[in-house]
Amino acid sequence: MSFIVLAVKSVWQYYVPSRDVLRLLDMFRWMVNDSIGIGLVNGASSLRRLSLLSYSQLARYDSPSCYKLCAISRAAGILAAQKKSVRRGFTTRTPYSFKQQLVSCYGFKIENGYLRIPVLRGKRFSIPLTKHMLEVISQPRVKVRSFTLTQNRLSLCIARDTPRIECTSTIGVDRNLRNLTVGNDEETRHYDLSKCVRMAKTTVRIVASFTRNDDRIRTVIASKYGERRTARTGHLLHNATKTIVAMAVRRREAIVLENIGGIRSLYRKGNGQGGKYRGRMNGWSFGEAQRQIEYKARWIGLPIIRLSRRETRGSSVTCPRCGERLQSDKKLKRKLWCGNCRIVMDRDMVAAVNLARRGRVRFARSRPPIIEAQGGAVEAMKGNPTPTVIPGVDAPKLTQPTKS
Ligand SMILES: [Zn+2]
Repeated sequence: MSFIVLAVKSVWQYYVPSRDVLRLLDMFRWMVNDSIGIGLVNGASSLRRLSLLSYSQLARYDSPSCYKLCAISRAAGILAAQKKSVRRGFTTRTPYSFKQQLVSCYGFKIENGYLRIPVLRGKRFSIPLTKHMLEVISQPRVKVRSFTLTQNRLSLCIARDTPRIECTSTIGVDRNLRNLTVGNDEETRHYDLSKCVRMAKTTVRIVASFTRNDDRIRTVIASKYGERRTARTGHLLHNATKTIVAMAVRRREAIVLENIGGIRSLYRKGNGQGGKYRGRMNGWSFGEAQRQIEYKARWIGLPIIRLSRRETRGSSVTCPRCGERLQSDKKLKRKLWCGNCRIVMDRDMVAAVNLARRGRVRFARSRPPIIEAQGGAVEAMKGNPTPTVIPGVDAPKLTQPTKS
């Protein structure tokens, strides 16, 4: 028996918009904001209620009707995100869509190397797709589910059914400031990421060196260098995560990750840490490494086990051999000592091995193993501020087992 997993990811390219497209982007934003307003006034955030309330209100926009539905759906996503934040006790601003962005799962066609979308009633716009884009979407069983336009980028959300890889073992991934450690009882490997840390440091120094006391200019400069840094570290991380996933596939090992939700709140002002330390810890892209490993694994059908906070407790200070609490010593630096087994172990290695172990426990307990199939993969596009709910397009799910 084998399971089929629906895997979703996105690919993007640059494009040159026409005037109609720019108008459409603007109109889309207005429609989203109108729907948000209607939702707020009526206290509605479900897609169904919001559609009933605002579809007729959007009649005054001269937009192809398919985009109206998508605008409502985006508004519903933004409202739902706000509701969630409120429930968790965060203060929120009145939701409003600033970004010029068009998301749609209807009305588009891909033919002869072009993406064709309606821009006005009866008028279409064609975007030539790059070689890379065509290559990716022409892979077997790949379906294009939706497209996203910004002022200069086109992103396609693609999906495919992948038979799930049956795993016989697990490997843990432990993320530290300077490396990723991957391994289990048999073997551990380090992926050096100290270069990322250096880049982050440089960025902080550059941004800090601009002394003009104008908040707007500082924001622009900071975001410019921030983007540059994200691109460079992202590339480094890609190389590491690609190898990690490929290796795991070859050895039939499910990847075990720790849940790092809320890690940012560990390093905030008032927690009794120095500013430098906080900056360093927050500078490191914890989430990015995990995001990359998760989507790459999902795309290929490799199971991911995400351990809860409780399950990972003490994973870096417990002896993987005897379960004793390990002793640290200033002299040992990043090494730990088990008084019971009388051996010195590498701290990172200990964490990775423990994660692999604990993941395997979960793996063995549930047959067929339950895999984290949720996650905001509806639109895998980076920097999507809020989950976009698109009618007819849902997050990846395990479908019924099929005979093989
Ligand atoms: Zn021990």
